Amino acid sequence: MNNIFEGGGVTRPIDDLGRIVLPKEMRQLLNLNDGSRLVVSVVDESSLLLSLPVMVCRACHSPEELVTYIGLTVCDSCIDALNKERKNIQMLKAGK
Ligand SMILES: [Zn+2]
Repeated sequence: MNNIFEGGGVTRPIDDLGRIVLPKEMRQLLNLNDGSRLVVSVVDESSLLLSLPVMVCRACHSPEELVTYIGLTVCDSCIDALNKERKNIQMLKAGK
């Protein structure tokens, strides 16, 4: 039932709700448990990519020094740049 394809991939059926079951060996290898989340991406017309989620800054895509506020994740560098821009705008408004 599970043919092995190039790269070690296996076939898995999609059920009537669109779900697939990841092989137990793969789940154990990646330490995936109930509730673990994966990112599903379309690579091209014949490929999907399942990957572990990696948080990145919404503005510059850096994975470093992240802060999440009301659902938006940004890095410290972008927060600093935004604060500098805000100060510049405030100085312009004040005529300085
Ligand atoms: Zn950033």
